[in-house]
Amino acid sequence: MISVEEALEKILATVSRLEPEEKAILDCLDQVLDEDVVAGFDIPPHDNAAMDGYAVRSKELSGAADGRPVYLDVIGEVAAGYVSNKNVIEGTAIRIMTGAPLPGGADAVVRFEDSDELEHKDDGKRRGKIGIFTTAGKGQNIRSRGEDIQSGSIVLKKNTVLRPSEIGILASLGKSRAKVIRRPVVSILPTGDELCNVDRPLSPGKIYDSNSYAIAASVLKCGGIPRLLDIARDSMKPLKAQISHGAEADMLITSGGVSVGDYDIVKDVLSQMGQIDFWTVRMKPGKPLAFGLVKKQKRNLVKEVPHLGLPGNPVSSMITFEQFARPAILKMMGKDNFARPTVTATLDQAIKNNDGRRIFARVRLTRDAEGWHASLTGPQGSGILTSMSAADGLAIVPEDCPLVKAGEKVKVQLLEGSEYIW
Ligand code: AMP
Ligand code: MG
Repeated sequence: MISVEEALEKILATVSRLEPEEKAILDCLDQVLDEDVVAGFDIPPHDNAAMDGYAVRSKELSGAADGRPVYLDVIGEVAAGYVSNKNVIEGTAIRIMTGAPLPGGADAVVRFEDSDELEHKDDGKRRGKIGIFTTAGKGQNIRSRGEDIQSGSIVLKKNTVLRPSEIGILASLGKSRAKVIRRPVVSILPTGDELCNVDRPLSPGKIYDSNSYAIAASVLKCGGIPRLLDIARDSMKPLKAQISHGAEADMLITSGGVSVGDYDIVKDVLSQMGQIDFWTVRMKPGKPLAFGLVKKQKRNLVKEVPHLGLPGNPVSSMITFEQFARPAILKMMGKDNFARPTVTATLDQAIKNNDGRRIFARVRLTRDAEGWHASLTGPQGSGILTSMSAADGLAIVPEDCPLVKAGEKVKVQLLEGSEYIW
């Protein structure tokens, strides 16, 4: 048996960062930037008003106070998107809106609220003079040119994950496209004579293939592109053809056929088609796992495609996906932070660990004044998918811990969507 860490290390050592692609920025969300992004100009590109008000020369307001206004001639108005063709000169002010470039000669903006603007709001007349009730410091209510981004600076470094704010920065720099590490295409191949496609009626003895869909949804969640293949029956020839087809991708994930009872077929097929290891990983659920490289001949080139053989039980396949496939996909996407966040929680029920494996128990999390509580989501059989659906996280019982008593602390690895409990 190998440990979870050993298995993960071997998998990560085999997969590598994919090549970059260039595309429209909105399509790059959550992908990794493959270039430094340098600003071609300052942002903001000009000094501009941070408030609606009057552009003034601050030194002219030195005597202004409540009840003792300084009156200035209003010689113009400038809205956001326009440039004033007049300068503020002695005894004058220019009405200015938020975001509008500061007119020449002005060095401060006084808010409407600090003038008699609002007193005359309803008289309908545009007045030639404005009374200002406050002094103004130089630069007051002005956003200065380049205060956010300076021309020539590296604004986004290579390897940055593009979140909505970074997509916004790219747009603010006038960049409609970006170079990012492409998303891996992941083939998903379910195996088993008992499986029935979700759009067909069930016949006796059959069950619907749920793994393909749970795995495909998980691939989408970590940023990959899932490709669902037809169900492979438990016999050599079709399995071989399906695996070969599945290898037309960046990664192949199979489910089922790796446990002791029936993995021989998969094993035989795979050993003919590449190099594969069958592991028993010291974890529960999810002990049997296959990993290797499928060789794919393409004209004169032999391409090697990483293959992860997940166990068939629905919960086992999801939990092994979490521990092994997700980090592999993230690495292919150029990411380097694979760990899910964890919290420490008080366990509500005892968990026994009889055979020295690491247990990933499905738990629901709640929080009270003392901190987090973890409660088992019900029967923990590896076929009980509803217990996975009810879970916010996976409570981890270490290999060398035969019992966690109720009331003791456990580490809980948060699952996808667990932010909704916050
Ligand atoms: P196996 O690993 O092939 O022995 O399968 C273990 C268990 O998982 C069996 O009860 C299978 O019926 C079930 N199983 C295998 N593949 C799937 C699948 N794609 N969807 C739902 N259940 C599956
Ligand atoms: Mg099977």
